Amino acid sequence: MKVILSRHIGFCSGVKHAVDTALRVPPENTLLFGELIHNREVVEKVEARGIPTVSSLDEVPAGSKLIVRSHGVGKRFYEECAARGIEVIDCTCGFVKRTQRIVAAAGKAGKTVLIAGHAEHPEVQGLLGWCSGEAAVVDEGEDLTRFCDKNIVFVSQTTFSEQRFLKIAENLQKVCQKTVEIFKTICYTTIWRQKEAEQIARNCDAVIVFGGLNSSNTGKLYEIASAHCKNVFRLERADDFKYEKFLFYERVGIIAGASTPDWQTQEVLFKMEENNAEVQATTMMDVVEGIDKAERYKKGQIITAKIVSATDEGVYVSAAGKLEILLAKEELATEEYSREAYAEKVGTEIELMVVEVTPKVKLSQKQLQKIKEEEAQLKDIEEGKEFSVVCTGFNKGGLTAELGTYPVFVPAKEIRSGYVKDLEKYTGKKLRLRMLEIRKERRKEIIASQRVIIEEERAAREAAKAEKEAAFFESIQEGDVVEGRVERVTSFGAFVSVNGFDCLAHISDLSWSGVKSVTDVLEIGKHYEFKVLKVDRENKKVSIGYKQLQPQPWDLAAEKYAEGDIVHGKVVRIVPFGAFVELEKGVDGLVHVSQITHEWLDNPTSILTIGQEVDAKIMAFNPAERKITLSIKALQPRPEAEPRPERKEHERHDEDRPRVRKSVRRGAASEGGEEDEYREWSESASFGASISELIGSDEENK
Ligand code: SF4
Repeated sequence: MKVILSRHIGFCSGVKHAVDTALRVPPENTLLFGELIHNREVVEKVEARGIPTVSSLDEVPAGSKLIVRSHGVGKRFYEECAARGIEVIDCTCGFVKRTQRIVAAAGKAGKTVLIAGHAEHPEVQGLLGWCSGEAAVVDEGEDLTRFCDKNIVFVSQTTFSEQRFLKIAENLQKVCQKTVEIFKTICYTTIWRQKEAEQIARNCDAVIVFGGLNSSNTGKLYEIASAHCKNVFRLERADDFKYEKFLFYERVGIIAGASTPDWQTQEVLFKMEENNAEVQATTMMDVVEGIDKAERYKKGQIITAKIVSATDEGVYVSAAGKLEILLAKEELATEEYSREAYAEKVGTEIELMVVEVTPKVKLSQKQLQKIKEEEAQLKDIEEGKEFSVVCTGFNKGGLTAELGTYPVFVPAKEIRSGYVKDLEKYTGKKLRLRMLEIRKERRKEIIASQRVIIEEERAAREAAKAEKEAAFFESIQEGDVVEGRVERVTSFGAFVSVNGFDCLAHISDLSWSGVKSVTDVLEIGKHYEFKVLKVDRENKKVSIGYKQLQPQPWDLAAEKYAEGDIVHGKVVRIVPFGAFVELEKGVDGLVHVSQITHEWLDNPTSILTIGQEVDAKIMAFNPAERKITLSIKALQPRPEAEPRPERKEHERHDEDRPRVRKSVRRGAASEGGEEDEYREWSESASFGASISELIGSDEENK
């Protein structure tokens, strides 16, 4: 015996969802509205979990959960449940829901709804519950003239016979004088099971139709098979199968209703195999070719297909004239697959690509989307848009990479300006590219350059810098006060960013009292105010000063010191003509050699040392010229004068010359600059004390 097994066995997607739900939900407070499916064994299995079946809402206590089976229910049912505090676990099949939506919209539009089906079937009862206007259930052979003056919307019970539906539709179009909108809402599973039933029945001596005796779709399969085969047997349970009955048949076909679990079919097959029957499953293509000679798919072909159902594995789609194909959830162009969300899309058309044809057809929405995105990107790239890729390798001519399915080549001279010796180091690195050309001979290859982008950016940066500089030099003037950030320091000053332009604050312009290091005054990264000292537009240099905005110690000194004051200070410098004593930072005065002591001094260092602290009297103070003349000896008691021997005129003359001048002249002869320094210091302006005053009168020098 050869056994021909239908491809479509086991639960359809709608029944599978309902059964899975009923076997998964916690049974506490859960009830089932109506028999879950027309299969006793499954119903008993669900009831064994402690989920009772009810037929009226009056049997459902408030707070319960109620499973609605795949047949669906009317609109009022949901409202009733909400009013009674019953939570609905809705397992209505997506195909049924779609029909419900069609009839509800028709009612709202004032159209008459005709449903091809069995009036007492729960699905049809549910559909009627969504019709808000005139509605009727019709079947083949019925007089339809009573609807001749109506606008008709014609739908079908999802498990109705396709043949009969088409006949009714034809008749309606003949008799109706107004519009007839036809929606073939028979589900695809039903259609293909019916087509397979016909093919198998035509080619077998006997046919087993497996399914519940009260199952509508199983009944249709029986009807169809009986039309093409004399020996058709209905089987509700695997236990009912008796091999002996089929001993005289060479080819036995097995078909099953949508509510028949495949384990029951497998059990029958097992019994057949035990008796050495050879089992052979029909293939999709057998059926397709046998029924309507549909075209075969080609790899890479783009097709439009309709979503016919959603399962946990993905969605079933069907293109015109072809069988349902599972579009795996991984191949859908969605981040996260949701069966419920796709069940809502049943009836929607989507574009897909055929990615494999053997051993079976494989479709992908994701790959098609990727190709479309690549094509859009390529269009942008061809128009000159920058793109980036990761370098995957190199050859002696340049770098290689891939942009989606397109190979990319970057010639070595296009990587950057100048010669690139080591190409290997680019492997794995990101490249920013612009297309130079696209070679279309074989595979489209993109020839691209990174160098052009680098050079463009450099030119843009330089132009922006020049523009910024021009604006800076236009706005800045000598004497301006500007704010700047100290960027870096050197031994000779600090570079300060003023409006993004580097200006130099020389170390001598940081403090009135002089500093050893720039960082004694300025801190890197901090902002300060500076005075613009010099703007050299030609050489693009700006000098700024910090001390120029700080108070001058001499200005303050004018308020603090006066002639005749006794002051305390430190010897900071000794020169042949005297010593400079610092009174405070930035303010010092000169003690002339003649004002150090009443004694004759050949050199100030014989009494004073650097760092020595001394008291002195201010003899003259000229803040405008920043000069203070000090005297130490003025604070010392004058020694007793000794009688001097009579001298000749020429001896007196020599002796009376100011000694300091001798010293200064000596200095001038030996050291040069120091005499000048003193002269400069003393003669540069009106000076409070004259040289003779400093040196002392003849009387004092005696
Ligand atoms: S409509 Fe079709 S797929 Fe849905 S439950 Fe019914 S037979 Fe199954």
